[in-house]
Amino acid sequence: MIKYLDLQKINASFEPELSDALLRISRSGWYLHGEATARFEQEFADYCGTPHCIGTGNGLDALTLIFLAYRESGMMNAGDEVIVPANTYIATLLSILRTGLKPVLCEPSSETCNIDVAHAETLITPRTRAILPVHLYGRLADMQGVHDLATRYGLKVIEDAAQAHGAIYNDSLQGRENRSLRAGNLGDAAAFSFYPAKNLGALGDGGAITTHDATLAAIVRSIANYGSTEKYIHQYQGINSRLDELQATVLSVKLSRLDKDNARRREIARLYQENIHWSRLELRSTVNIGGINESNVFHIFPVFSSRRNELQRHLAAHNINTQIHYPIPPHHQEALKQEYGMQQLPITERIHNEELSLPIYPLLTNEEAGQIIDCINTFA
Ligand SMILES: *Cc1c(COP(=O)(O)O)cnc(C)c1O
Repeated sequence: MIKYLDLQKINASFEPELSDALLRISRSGWYLHGEATARFEQEFADYCGTPHCIGTGNGLDALTLIFLAYRESGMMNAGDEVIVPANTYIATLLSILRTGLKPVLCEPSSETCNIDVAHAETLITPRTRAILPVHLYGRLADMQGVHDLATRYGLKVIEDAAQAHGAIYNDSLQGRENRSLRAGNLGDAAAFSFYPAKNLGALGDGGAITTHDATLAAIVRSIANYGSTEKYIHQYQGINSRLDELQATVLSVKLSRLDKDNARRREIARLYQENIHWSRLELRSTVNIGGINESNVFHIFPVFSSRRNELQRHLAAHNINTQIHYPIPPHHQEALKQEYGMQQLPITERIHNEELSLPIYPLLTNEEAGQIIDCINTFA
Protein backbone atom coordinates (compact mmCIF):
# COMPACT_ATOMS: atom_id res chain seq x y z
CA MET A 1 0.00 0.00 0.00
CA ILE A 2 1.41 3.40 -0.97
CA LYS A 3 -0.04 6.06 1.28
CA TYR A 4 -0.84 9.52 -0.05
CA LEU A 5 1.08 10.94 2.90
CA ASP A 6 2.85 9.04 5.69
CA LEU A 7 3.08 11.45 8.63
CA GLN A 8 4.25 8.72 10.98
CA LYS A 9 7.24 8.02 8.75
CA ILE A 10 7.97 11.73 8.28
CA ASN A 11 7.91 12.53 11.99
CA ALA A 12 9.88 9.39 12.92
CA SER A 13 12.66 10.66 10.66
CA PHE A 14 13.16 13.62 13.03
CA GLU A 15 13.94 11.39 16.01
CA PRO A 16 15.48 11.54 18.54
CA GLU A 17 15.57 15.37 18.28
CA LEU A 18 11.78 15.64 18.14
CA SER A 19 11.08 13.67 21.33
CA ASP A 20 13.98 15.36 23.15
CA ALA A 21 12.56 18.78 22.27
CA LEU A 22 9.03 17.80 23.34
CA LEU A 23 10.26 16.39 26.63
CA ARG A 24 12.24 19.55 27.36
CA ILE A 25 9.07 21.65 27.00
CA SER A 26 6.87 19.24 28.94
CA ARG A 27 9.35 19.36 31.85
CA SER A 28 9.89 23.11 31.67
CA GLY A 29 6.58 24.10 33.27
CA TRP A 30 6.11 26.87 30.64
CA TYR A 31 3.71 26.18 27.75
CA LEU A 32 2.55 29.45 26.16
CA HIS A 33 4.28 32.70 25.13
CA GLY A 34 7.68 31.32 26.08
CA GLU A 35 11.19 30.95 24.75
CA ALA A 36 10.42 28.19 22.22
CA THR A 37 7.75 30.29 20.50
CA ALA A 38 9.94 33.41 20.48
CA ARG A 39 12.81 31.36 19.07
CA PHE A 40 10.74 29.79 16.31
CA GLU A 41 9.23 33.17 15.38
CA GLN A 42 12.75 34.59 15.00
CA GLU A 43 13.96 31.57 13.02
CA PHE A 44 10.98 31.62 10.67
CA ALA A 45 11.23 35.40 10.18
CA ASP A 46 14.93 35.00 9.30
CA TYR A 47 14.11 32.09 6.99
CA CYS A 48 11.46 34.07 5.11
CA GLY A 49 13.53 37.26 5.21
CA THR A 50 10.98 39.39 7.07
CA PRO A 51 11.67 41.40 10.23
CA HIS A 52 8.46 40.15 11.88
CA CYS A 53 6.83 36.78 12.47
CA ILE A 54 3.89 36.22 14.82
CA GLY A 55 2.86 32.67 15.72
CA THR A 56 -0.88 31.90 15.68
CA GLY A 57 -3.17 29.00 16.54
CA ASN A 58 -3.65 27.93 12.90
CA GLY A 59 -3.60 29.15 9.31
CA LEU A 60 -7.19 30.43 9.26
CA ASP A 61 -6.44 32.60 12.30
CA ALA A 62 -3.28 33.92 10.62
CA LEU A 63 -5.29 35.11 7.61
CA THR A 64 -8.11 36.42 9.80
CA LEU A 65 -5.73 38.34 12.08
CA ILE A 66 -4.22 40.18 9.12
CA PHE A 67 -7.68 41.45 8.09
CA LEU A 68 -8.69 42.19 11.70
CA ALA A 69 -5.56 44.33 12.04
CA TYR A 70 -6.31 46.23 8.83
CA ARG A 71 -9.86 46.78 10.13
CA GLU A 72 -8.61 48.06 13.49
CA SER A 73 -6.11 50.39 11.84
CA GLY A 74 -8.90 51.84 9.69
CA MET A 75 -7.23 50.78 6.45
CA MET A 76 -10.15 48.52 5.62
CA ASN A 77 -13.82 48.98 6.46
CA ALA A 78 -16.85 46.70 6.54
CA GLY A 79 -17.94 45.81 3.01
CA ASP A 80 -14.58 46.57 1.40
CA GLU A 81 -13.58 44.10 -1.27
CA VAL A 82 -10.74 41.61 -1.43
CA ILE A 83 -9.93 39.88 -4.73
CA VAL A 84 -9.17 36.21 -4.18
CA PRO A 85 -8.83 33.16 -6.43
CA ALA A 86 -12.07 31.16 -6.67
CA ASN A 87 -10.13 27.85 -6.61
CA THR A 88 -8.78 27.72 -3.09
CA TYR A 89 -9.40 26.04 0.21
CA ILE A 90 -12.45 27.59 1.90
CA ALA A 91 -10.32 29.02 4.75
CA THR A 92 -9.03 31.75 2.44
CA LEU A 93 -12.58 33.01 1.85
CA LEU A 94 -13.74 32.56 5.44
CA SER A 95 -10.99 34.85 6.75
CA ILE A 96 -12.34 37.65 4.55
CA LEU A 97 -16.00 37.02 5.40
CA ARG A 98 -15.30 36.72 9.13
CA THR A 99 -13.80 40.18 9.22
CA GLY A 100 -16.78 41.86 7.53
CA LEU A 101 -15.04 42.19 4.16
CA LYS A 102 -16.27 40.91 0.83
CA PRO A 103 -14.43 38.22 -1.16
CA VAL A 104 -14.53 38.87 -4.91
CA LEU A 105 -13.88 35.57 -6.66
CA CYS A 106 -11.34 35.61 -9.46
CA GLU A 107 -10.79 32.84 -12.01
CA PRO A 108 -7.29 31.33 -12.06
CA SER A 109 -5.04 30.81 -15.04
CA SER A 110 -5.85 27.33 -16.35
CA GLU A 111 -2.11 26.77 -16.93
CA THR A 112 -0.82 27.54 -13.42
CA CYS A 113 -4.03 27.30 -11.34
CA ASN A 114 -2.92 30.54 -9.66
CA ILE A 115 -4.74 33.88 -9.80
CA ASP A 116 -5.11 35.37 -13.28
CA VAL A 117 -3.95 38.95 -12.81
CA ALA A 118 -5.48 40.21 -16.06
CA HIS A 119 -8.85 38.88 -14.94
CA ALA A 120 -8.33 40.32 -11.45
CA GLU A 121 -8.01 43.78 -12.97
CA THR A 122 -11.50 43.50 -14.47
CA LEU A 123 -12.89 42.93 -10.95
CA ILE A 124 -11.51 46.10 -9.39
CA THR A 125 -14.09 48.59 -8.06
CA PRO A 126 -13.79 51.73 -5.89
CA ARG A 127 -14.20 49.44 -2.86
CA THR A 128 -11.32 47.07 -3.68
CA ARG A 129 -8.72 47.24 -0.91
CA ALA A 130 -6.62 44.12 -1.28
CA ILE A 131 -5.63 41.20 -3.45
CA LEU A 132 -4.99 37.84 -1.87
CA PRO A 133 -2.94 35.48 -4.05
CA VAL A 134 -2.84 31.85 -2.92
CA HIS A 135 0.36 29.99 -3.82
CA LEU A 136 -1.71 26.95 -4.72
CA TYR A 137 -0.16 23.46 -4.65
CA GLY A 138 3.16 25.04 -3.55
CA ARG A 139 3.70 27.11 -6.68
CA LEU A 140 4.22 30.85 -6.30
CA ALA A 141 1.65 33.10 -7.93
CA ASP A 142 2.64 35.71 -10.54
CA MET A 143 3.78 38.17 -7.89
CA GLN A 144 5.22 40.73 -10.31
CA GLY A 145 1.81 40.92 -11.97
CA VAL A 146 0.09 41.13 -8.59
CA HIS A 147 2.43 43.92 -7.49
CA ASP A 148 1.98 45.95 -10.64
CA LEU A 149 -1.78 45.75 -10.19
CA ALA A 150 -1.59 46.57 -6.47
CA THR A 151 0.64 49.57 -7.11
CA ARG A 152 -1.62 50.92 -9.85
CA TYR A 153 -4.79 50.67 -7.75
CA GLY A 154 -3.35 51.19 -4.24
CA LEU A 155 -4.16 47.69 -2.96
CA LYS A 156 -2.64 45.68 -0.12
CA VAL A 157 -1.11 42.35 -1.12
CA ILE A 158 -1.75 39.50 1.30
CA GLU A 159 -0.22 36.11 0.53
CA ASP A 160 -1.92 32.87 1.48
CA ALA A 161 1.34 30.94 1.82
CA ALA A 162 -0.20 27.95 3.62
CA GLN A 163 1.01 25.60 0.85
CA ALA A 164 4.30 27.28 -0.06
CA HIS A 165 6.76 27.30 2.88
CA GLY A 166 10.20 27.96 1.46
CA ALA A 167 9.31 28.70 -2.17
CA ILE A 168 11.63 31.28 -3.76
CA TYR A 169 10.52 33.79 -6.39
CA ASN A 170 12.83 33.39 -9.40
CA ASP A 171 12.53 36.77 -11.00
CA SER A 172 13.36 40.00 -9.30
CA LEU A 173 10.39 41.89 -7.92
CA GLN A 174 10.45 45.53 -8.84
CA GLY A 175 11.05 47.77 -5.82
CA ARG A 176 12.27 44.83 -3.72
CA GLU A 177 15.69 44.26 -5.22
CA ASN A 178 17.40 43.87 -1.87
CA ARG A 179 15.06 41.36 -0.38
CA SER A 180 15.20 37.63 -0.05
CA LEU A 181 12.24 36.64 -2.16
CA ARG A 182 10.72 33.73 -0.32
CA ALA A 183 7.01 33.08 0.16
CA GLY A 184 5.98 35.18 3.13
CA ASN A 185 8.10 38.08 1.92
CA LEU A 186 6.37 38.83 -1.37
CA GLY A 187 3.56 41.12 -0.23
CA ASP A 188 2.45 43.40 2.61
CA ALA A 189 1.69 40.44 4.88
CA ALA A 190 1.51 36.67 4.59
CA ALA A 191 -0.27 33.85 6.37
CA PHE A 192 1.15 30.35 6.92
CA SER A 193 -0.43 27.18 8.25
CA PHE A 194 1.53 24.48 10.07
CA TYR A 195 -1.26 21.91 9.82
CA PRO A 196 0.48 18.51 10.10
CA ALA A 197 0.24 17.75 6.36
CA LYS A 198 1.82 21.02 5.16
CA ASN A 199 5.42 21.19 3.94
CA LEU A 200 6.32 22.49 7.41
CA GLY A 201 3.89 20.71 9.70
CA ALA A 202 3.38 20.68 13.47
CA LEU A 203 2.01 17.81 15.59
CA GLY A 204 -1.33 19.57 15.72
CA ASP A 205 -2.47 23.07 14.78
CA GLY A 206 -0.24 26.07 14.23
CA GLY A 207 0.14 29.10 12.00
CA ALA A 208 2.10 32.32 11.52
CA ILE A 209 2.03 35.75 9.97
CA THR A 210 5.12 37.27 8.40
CA THR A 211 5.43 40.93 7.42
CA HIS A 212 7.77 43.90 6.96
CA ASP A 213 5.15 46.23 8.42
CA ALA A 214 6.04 46.91 12.08
CA THR A 215 2.72 48.64 12.81
CA LEU A 216 0.71 45.77 11.38
CA ALA A 217 2.86 43.25 13.28
CA ALA A 218 2.23 45.02 16.59
CA ILE A 219 -1.55 45.19 16.05
CA VAL A 220 -1.68 41.53 14.97
CA ARG A 221 0.29 40.44 18.04
CA SER A 222 -2.05 42.37 20.29
CA ILE A 223 -5.29 41.15 18.67
CA ALA A 224 -4.04 37.54 18.82
CA ASN A 225 -3.58 38.05 22.58
CA TYR A 226 -7.09 39.26 23.53
CA GLY A 227 -6.25 42.74 22.23
CA SER A 228 -3.66 43.20 24.93
CA THR A 229 0.02 44.08 25.00
CA GLU A 230 0.11 44.76 28.72
CA LYS A 231 -1.48 42.25 31.08
CA TYR A 232 -5.14 43.11 31.84
CA ILE A 233 -5.07 46.18 29.56
CA HIS A 234 -7.14 45.60 26.40
CA GLN A 235 -6.92 47.98 23.49
CA TYR A 236 -8.83 45.85 20.96
CA GLN A 237 -11.66 43.32 21.06
CA GLY A 238 -9.13 40.62 20.39
CA ILE A 239 -9.16 36.87 20.02
CA ASN A 240 -7.08 34.10 21.56
CA SER A 241 -4.81 32.55 18.96
CA ARG A 242 -1.38 31.34 19.93
CA LEU A 243 1.29 29.02 18.68
CA ASP A 244 2.10 26.99 21.79
CA GLU A 245 5.53 26.02 23.08
CA LEU A 246 5.22 22.34 22.14
CA GLN A 247 4.30 23.09 18.52
CA ALA A 248 6.92 25.83 18.27
CA THR A 249 9.72 23.52 19.36
CA VAL A 250 8.56 20.85 16.89
CA LEU A 251 8.60 23.46 14.13
CA SER A 252 12.14 24.58 15.02
CA VAL A 253 13.36 20.99 14.68
CA LYS A 254 11.55 20.53 11.36
CA LEU A 255 12.45 23.93 9.87
CA SER A 256 16.12 22.92 9.85
CA ARG A 257 15.34 20.34 7.15
CA LEU A 258 12.69 22.21 5.15
CA ASP A 259 14.90 23.17 2.19
CA LYS A 260 16.17 19.61 1.88
CA ASP A 261 12.63 18.22 2.10
CA ASN A 262 11.41 20.65 -0.57
CA ALA A 263 14.33 19.66 -2.82
CA ARG A 264 13.33 16.00 -2.40
CA ARG A 265 9.74 16.90 -3.39
CA ARG A 266 11.13 18.46 -6.57
CA GLU A 267 13.13 15.27 -7.29
CA ILE A 268 9.93 13.22 -7.12
CA ALA A 269 8.14 15.80 -9.29
CA ARG A 270 10.89 15.40 -11.87
CA LEU A 271 10.44 11.62 -11.88
CA TYR A 272 6.73 12.09 -12.53
CA GLN A 273 7.27 14.78 -15.13
CA GLU A 274 9.84 12.77 -17.09
CA ASN A 275 8.25 9.33 -16.92
CA ILE A 276 4.49 9.72 -17.08
CA HIS A 277 3.24 9.33 -20.67
CA TRP A 278 1.44 12.65 -20.68
CA SER A 279 0.39 12.84 -24.29
CA ARG A 280 -0.75 9.24 -24.65
CA LEU A 281 -2.97 9.56 -21.60
CA GLU A 282 -4.24 13.06 -22.41
CA LEU A 283 -3.23 13.94 -18.90
CA ARG A 284 -2.22 17.47 -18.12
CA SER A 285 -0.17 18.91 -15.31
CA THR A 286 0.56 22.47 -14.26
CA VAL A 287 4.10 21.19 -13.73
CA ASN A 288 4.67 21.08 -17.45
CA ILE A 289 4.31 24.87 -17.53
CA GLY A 290 7.29 26.82 -16.20
CA GLY A 291 9.39 23.81 -15.29
CA ILE A 292 10.59 22.50 -11.95
CA ASN A 293 12.54 24.99 -9.87
CA GLU A 294 12.65 26.68 -6.47
CA SER A 295 9.49 28.71 -7.10
CA ASN A 296 7.53 25.48 -6.59
CA VAL A 297 7.79 23.48 -3.36
CA PHE A 298 5.28 20.86 -4.55
CA HIS A 299 2.98 20.78 -1.56
CA ILE A 300 0.84 18.88 -4.05
CA PHE A 301 1.60 17.21 -7.38
CA PRO A 302 -1.59 17.76 -9.39
CA VAL A 303 -2.53 15.97 -12.59
CA PHE A 304 -5.66 16.78 -14.56
CA SER A 305 -7.86 14.41 -16.51
CA SER A 306 -11.42 14.36 -17.78
CA ARG A 307 -11.35 10.75 -16.49
CA ARG A 308 -10.08 11.72 -13.06
CA ASN A 309 -12.43 9.48 -11.04
CA GLU A 310 -11.61 6.43 -13.16
CA LEU A 311 -7.88 7.13 -12.81
CA GLN A 312 -8.24 7.45 -9.05
CA ARG A 313 -10.08 4.10 -8.91
CA HIS A 314 -7.43 2.46 -11.12
CA LEU A 315 -4.66 3.62 -8.77
CA ALA A 316 -6.65 2.58 -5.69
CA ALA A 317 -7.14 -0.88 -7.18
CA HIS A 318 -3.34 -1.10 -7.28
CA ASN A 319 -3.03 0.03 -3.64
CA ILE A 320 -2.00 3.59 -4.44
CA ASN A 321 -3.76 6.32 -2.48
CA THR A 322 -4.40 9.71 -4.03
CA GLN A 323 -6.41 12.77 -3.03
CA ILE A 324 -8.45 15.48 -4.74
CA HIS A 325 -7.74 19.17 -4.06
CA TYR A 326 -10.57 20.01 -3.92
CA PRO A 327 -13.68 18.02 -4.88
CA ILE A 328 -16.14 20.94 -4.53
CA PRO A 329 -15.20 24.57 -5.25
CA PRO A 330 -15.99 27.08 -2.48
CA HIS A 331 -18.79 28.81 -4.46
CA HIS A 332 -20.69 25.50 -4.68
CA GLN A 333 -20.37 24.74 -0.96
CA GLU A 334 -23.57 24.88 1.08
CA ALA A 335 -21.93 27.52 3.30
CA LEU A 336 -21.38 29.96 0.41
CA LYS A 337 -23.96 28.88 -2.16
CA GLN A 338 -26.47 31.58 -1.35
CA GLU A 339 -24.08 34.43 -2.09
CA TYR A 340 -21.79 32.90 -4.70
CA GLY A 341 -23.58 29.84 -6.10
CA MET A 342 -24.89 31.53 -9.25
CA GLN A 343 -21.47 32.74 -10.41
CA GLN A 344 -20.10 31.22 -13.60
CA LEU A 345 -16.52 30.13 -12.92
CA PRO A 346 -15.78 27.53 -15.61
CA ILE A 347 -11.99 27.34 -15.13
CA THR A 348 -12.38 26.88 -11.37
CA GLU A 349 -15.09 24.25 -11.86
CA ARG A 350 -13.01 22.34 -14.39
CA ILE A 351 -10.04 22.24 -11.99
CA HIS A 352 -12.24 20.80 -9.26
CA ASN A 353 -13.68 18.22 -11.66
CA GLU A 354 -10.35 17.10 -13.12
CA GLU A 355 -7.67 17.45 -10.42
CA LEU A 356 -5.97 14.41 -8.86
CA SER A 357 -3.05 14.70 -6.41
CA LEU A 358 -0.31 12.06 -6.56
CA PRO A 359 1.74 11.15 -3.45
CA ILE A 360 4.79 13.46 -3.18
CA TYR A 361 5.89 13.59 0.46
CA PRO A 362 9.70 13.74 0.94
CA LEU A 363 10.04 10.18 2.27
CA LEU A 364 8.29 8.58 -0.70
CA THR A 365 10.96 6.34 -2.27
CA ASN A 366 12.03 6.35 -5.92
CA GLU A 367 10.77 2.79 -6.10
CA GLU A 368 7.31 3.84 -4.91
CA ALA A 369 7.29 6.75 -7.36
CA GLY A 370 8.20 4.24 -10.08
CA GLN A 371 5.27 2.01 -9.14
CA ILE A 372 2.93 5.00 -9.29
CA ILE A 373 4.27 6.00 -12.71
CA ASP A 374 3.93 2.45 -14.07
CA CYS A 375 0.40 2.22 -12.76
CA ILE A 376 -0.60 5.52 -14.39
CA ASN A 377 1.00 4.49 -17.69
CA THR A 378 -1.02 1.27 -17.77
CA PHE A 379 -4.28 3.20 -17.37
CA ALA A 380 -6.00 2.71 -20.69
C1 LIG B 1 -4.24 24.67 5.00
C2 LIG B 1 -4.71 25.90 4.35
C3 LIG B 1 -5.29 26.96 5.08
C4 LIG B 1 -5.74 26.85 6.50
O1 LIG B 1 -4.84 26.41 7.43
P1 LIG B 1 -5.33 25.79 8.83
O2 LIG B 1 -4.06 25.74 9.62
O3 LIG B 1 -5.90 24.46 8.54
O4 LIG B 1 -6.33 26.73 9.42
C5 LIG B 1 -5.56 28.14 4.40
N1 LIG B 1 -5.32 28.27 3.10
C6 LIG B 1 -4.81 27.28 2.36
C7 LIG B 1 -4.56 27.51 0.90
C8 LIG B 1 -4.50 26.05 2.96
O5 LIG B 1 -3.99 25.06 2.20
